[in-house]
Amino acid sequence: MNRRPSANCRYQPTVYEHAANCYTHALLIVPAFVGMTLLHCLSDNNWERITAWVYGLGLCGLFVVSTVFHIITWKKSHMRSVEQCFHMCDRVVIYFFIAASYTPWLNLRELGPLAAHMRWFVWLMAAAGTIYGASVVLACLTNEEVLPDNTDGLYELAYGGLIYCLGVFFFKSDGVIPFAHAIWHVFVALAAAVHYYAIWKYLYKAPSSESLLHS
Ligand SMILES: [Zn+2]
Repeated sequence: MNRRPSANCRYQPTVYEHAANCYTHALLIVPAFVGMTLLHCLSDNNWERITAWVYGLGLCGLFVVSTVFHIITWKKSHMRSVEQCFHMCDRVVIYFFIAASYTPWLNLRELGPLAAHMRWFVWLMAAAGTIYGASVVLACLTNEEVLPDNTDGLYELAYGGLIYCLGVFFFKSDGVIPFAHAIWHVFVALAAAVHYYAIWKYLYKAPSSESLLHS
């Protein structure tokens, strides 16, 4: 581990930390594509298919952008502006990924009027780079308020959210805890896995939400 940087500088990881940062997300690119394809195959209609792609691309995008960013930083690209750009992307992609994580829930469940607006709201939140906490609380509250009997998967969403929040501790600990950023990556991957499991189980594996809605 290297020393914690001064206020305006970025932490410089050691070679081992660079490698861990790359591999922790690079190894998940293929599983993310497989997961996206699986949801696509389980789709019963176009709406489910579109949702599978939005979510799946969010998932793949997260790991691809993160991996590319960490490779560029590791190899000390001469193109500083490219590195800066990807540094920003590494931050922004997580917000978009979180919006993508909610999309299946908001698209594939019958929602009350308030929650239906969340469909667009989560993307606005992502665009504004607003932190995750607020949107998860709102999504859960509106869902519970409108559909008290339709709370399957909320525990998984909450666990996933909790894992992200715990991960933020490591995200902020560069230079304090060895491999802090790689540990953050693992937390992101775990939370994504919990969310994927819930989406697969409750929204795709179960009978089509369409047929449930109209039965
Ligand atoms: Zn990263």
